[in-house]
Amino acid sequence: MIFDLHCHTYFSDGILSPEAVVARAKARGVAVLAITDHDTIAAVGIAQKAAGDAGISLISGIEFSSQWGRGGVHIVGLGVDIHSPALLAAIEFQEQSRNARALAIGDRLSKAGFPGALAGAQALAGSGTLGRPHFAQYLVAIGAVKNINAAFKKYLGAGKPADVKYQWPLMDQVIAWIHAAGGVAVLAHPAKYELTRTKMCALADSFVAAGGDAIEVISGLQPAAQTEDLLRIANERSLYASCGSDFHIPDQPWQELGSFGRLPAHAKPVWELLGYNQQQSLTLFSQTDALVSVGVP
Ligand code: MN
Ligand code: MN
Ligand code: MN
Repeated sequence: MIFDLHCHTYFSDGILSPEAVVARAKARGVAVLAITDHDTIAAVGIAQKAAGDAGISLISGIEFSSQWGRGGVHIVGLGVDIHSPALLAAIEFQEQSRNARALAIGDRLSKAGFPGALAGAQALAGSGTLGRPHFAQYLVAIGAVKNINAAFKKYLGAGKPADVKYQWPLMDQVIAWIHAAGGVAVLAHPAKYELTRTKMCALADSFVAAGGDAIEVISGLQPAAQTEDLLRIANERSLYASCGSDFHIPDQPWQELGSFGRLPAHAKPVWELLGYNQQQSLTLFSQTDALVSVGVP
């Protein structure tokens, strides 16, 4: 049985509909899927119905952005009650923060000579969450810059005219939101924050102190040695272990639904906290074993 406990739809920065993500997961042998869009649960209800039709199990999820020290870390909530008032208030808070930042960026760009930036970015975002990539796309569309990279280099990046610093809610706050919604708090992809191992351990310690439950010891294709190391960090702190693809877009084999190595036998799988027993996990990932040796491209 394959558990893929981290992926995205077009309700955040993925490109597929919830139905298409569920169908793709099913086709790739995933038995239990968690949809974890950034700061929204908009896809969960739709995905639940599709999963029921497809005969796979769906876990409601969300990936919150949070602040740890001077950096951002992502915390996944699994098994959250999507009707929880605490969760809905948290999502509202994140949306307002993002909107306030977008307004400030629009204001800065207007002063830099692009009065149509906010409206233009909003049009590009459509029903999705308005963010810096939309401002970058707008600047490209009107010919102000050659490409997205140049938009960040000239206007949106650190120290540039439209660089608006954003302070995410503290990691402790985000974990409290997830718990208030009855969910399990998972530290997402700890290897992707470009921390030294010492810093990563400090992050794991803070996560434990804040009441966190599990660490993603597998995020997409990664070397087996990295899985072992992250599992050591988890086990030393009695944290449960999670795994997922962090799928966003088809044809990125290092982040493909169901395609990642097996959770080692000495892991405490996070799905034990979600009502799935150990028996079901014994045959886990047998078909993706071969992928472990591929490593990260
Ligand atoms: Mn993303
Ligand atoms: Mn993330
Ligand atoms: Mn993600």
